[in-house]
Amino acid sequence: MSNVQEPSFRESVDLMFNRAVALMDLPPGLEEKIRVCNATYTVRFGVRLRGKIQTFTGYRSVHSEHMEPVKGGIRYSLGVNQNEVEALAALMTYKCALVEAPFGGSKGGLCIDPREYEEHELELITRRFAYELAKRDLIHPSQNVPAPDMGTGEREMAWIADQYARMNTTDINSKACVTGKPINAGGIQGRVEATGRGVQYALQEFFRHPQDVAKANLTGSLNGKRVVVQGLGNVGYHAAKFLSEEDGALITGIIERDGALVDAKGIDVEAVSRWIRDHGGVKGYPNAAYVEDGASVLEVECDILIPAALEGVINLSNANRVQAPLIIEAANGPVTAGADEILRDKGCVIIPDMYANAGGVTVSYFEWVKNLSHIRFGRMGRRQEEARHLLIVEELERLSKDKELGWTLSPDFKDKYLKGAGELELVRSGLEDTMRTAYQSMAEVWRSRDDVKDLRTAAYLVSIGRVASSYRAKGL
Ligand code: GLU
Repeated sequence: MSNVQEPSFRESVDLMFNRAVALMDLPPGLEEKIRVCNATYTVRFGVRLRGKIQTFTGYRSVHSEHMEPVKGGIRYSLGVNQNEVEALAALMTYKCALVEAPFGGSKGGLCIDPREYEEHELELITRRFAYELAKRDLIHPSQNVPAPDMGTGEREMAWIADQYARMNTTDINSKACVTGKPINAGGIQGRVEATGRGVQYALQEFFRHPQDVAKANLTGSLNGKRVVVQGLGNVGYHAAKFLSEEDGALITGIIERDGALVDAKGIDVEAVSRWIRDHGGVKGYPNAAYVEDGASVLEVECDILIPAALEGVINLSNANRVQAPLIIEAANGPVTAGADEILRDKGCVIIPDMYANAGGVTVSYFEWVKNLSHIRFGRMGRRQEEARHLLIVEELERLSKDKELGWTLSPDFKDKYLKGAGELELVRSGLEDTMRTAYQSMAEVWRSRDDVKDLRTAAYLVSIGRVASSYRAKGL
């Protein structure tokens, strides 16, 4: 997909890192210490499947241990290699620092096409991979905490958690060894939607700042904005769903593996998602035009482009033709360093991956805290909060009976106000706060420094600065 002259994904991340540190005043050597990956473990293991031993190759890379545990997903894909895992681990370090999730960066991958295997085979493979990592503390509640990524989800995380618990029968915190688990296996409400929800909160926050919106040559709010989303997986699906159902955005293009759908009037995300589930792709979907060359839809006119699939999809070969004035990187590394430069020169605003898709790890952080505290968020306070609200509502009702005051309560006030926050509400509130605060710290650098021309450099400056100060605090 990418052009031959293009640097690799890891080199691309390093180039962007270098651009940022050139604007910083770090002590000699610290820059190199932060940039390099601390360690990458490669494992090859055999699993007996279909009557013969099959050998799999997996990785777990630890980029930075300035905070522990280190954190990052495990990806199942045939494209997995050491270079990719290291780039993704580095992005995790910067991402966690930017959203103040107290973790170092890590990432794992298994070179496998999960669609080729039955569920029970995937379980055997996952458990064996987890065993190999756990016995080296590369899965561990206080050392290294994986999560879902491309090709993995709740099911795999439940197997990993169970495998770890079997190997550490007396560890009371064993559930905190991995996040993204199903609720009944120690997960948290709102984790599945978290990355897509984070993309929505990121865009909402962007559109709260007219001076930033103007830099993308846009005006107004999300309402009516034309959005093209690439990849209707977990992240793309949730982002597109929330933006269209809650913010009034029009999903004018959906790009999938087998082609794309376009409709200027807006596409029903839920219906397309169902269609993909039943038919394996978007082709044949009756209510939008089908475009066979899906990648060409990255280049159509729209207001917001959301690459939510693979890295490197916007590269030297197509960046020139991309027309979107605003790109939000829901995937990790979808824009190569070369494309980034072309787009920047064209005046396109890019909301960078390390911020845009940080919703996942943010809610992972909440899940990890929940596992360590052994109690669901909201369990202690909810009814108490409701009881206090009831006092106010009763008092207001009493006052509104007073004809002289002439007060009336709005019809849904009572129901809305009386409802105390449960786990899902608290998770969303924590996520929204995180996305808004992180945007502000990044945008503040973007606005205030003449030498910082883009949000990505601003994001790097904030996160590298934070990583550097925690190294400094350790005396390094
Ligand atoms: N794989 C996700 C990411 O790239 C989530 C990582 C996590 O929750 O630890 O951010």
